[in-house]
Amino acid sequence: MRLIAANWKMHKTVKETEEYIREFLKFVEHPESREILLCPPFTSLYVAGKLLEGSGVKLGAQNCYYEKQGAFTGEVSLPMLKEVGCEYVIIGHSERRYLFGENDELINKKLIACLEEGIRPILCVGEKLEDRETGMTFKVVETQVRLALSGLEEHTDGVDIAYEPVWAIGTGIPAMPEDAVSVHGFIKQLLNDINPKNKGKTRVLYGGSVKPENAGEYMKHSEIDGLLVGGASLNPETFAKIVYSF
Ligand code: 13P
Repeated sequence: MRLIAANWKMHKTVKETEEYIREFLKFVEHPESREILLCPPFTSLYVAGKLLEGSGVKLGAQNCYYEKQGAFTGEVSLPMLKEVGCEYVIIGHSERRYLFGENDELINKKLIACLEEGIRPILCVGEKLEDRETGMTFKVVETQVRLALSGLEEHTDGVDIAYEPVWAIGTGIPAMPEDAVSVHGFIKQLLNDINPKNKGKTRVLYGGSVKPENAGEYMKHSEIDGLLVGGASLNPETFAKIVYSF
């Protein structure tokens, strides 16, 4: 099933989360026809989990730590996320990589922990502008995918991947659907190389300046299994338009 996910990033207080979800649920129909996922900030997860109960809309976090508990000031563990109702967690978002220094080794440990804990990770990969301009897109994406999945070669079906070109995130310059399709096709081929048993069980989402006006264009392509939406997910009606764009 296709997956449309909202990454709110560092937006919305608890009160704003409550208002958003009450409004958003008015637009939700046939939640069984597609997977709908909201990823609010940590402080809003508990209340979001309560409000989404029974709605068919799923809850995810934007990050996690790989240890279950301990002296890790400022971190949040997977059991904590599960307890408040998270079924997904975004791992290795480019903002985590480039603003907070997350490297491939840390991302790999987080993915391993997610699979052990039974929370489905959405691994984010994508090239920077200079990579694209120097013809390095496929190489960069391949390296990120291979390092993230190292040791998980037989479990790739437990992971979804979001292709988010860094130059398209928050810039209003989305990737052309054909360019996204070619990278998605490449990632799917790579997954089959890594794990011949994967057989399409890993969804590959597109993210980067998705809005209601372009969402349907991406979703026309069978290589694109869903969308990861930042800025345009912050308004419930706008996000609902994206969810029902196909
Ligand atoms: P925008 O939709 O704001 O470009 O952000 C995309 C993103 O980073 C989703 O994870």
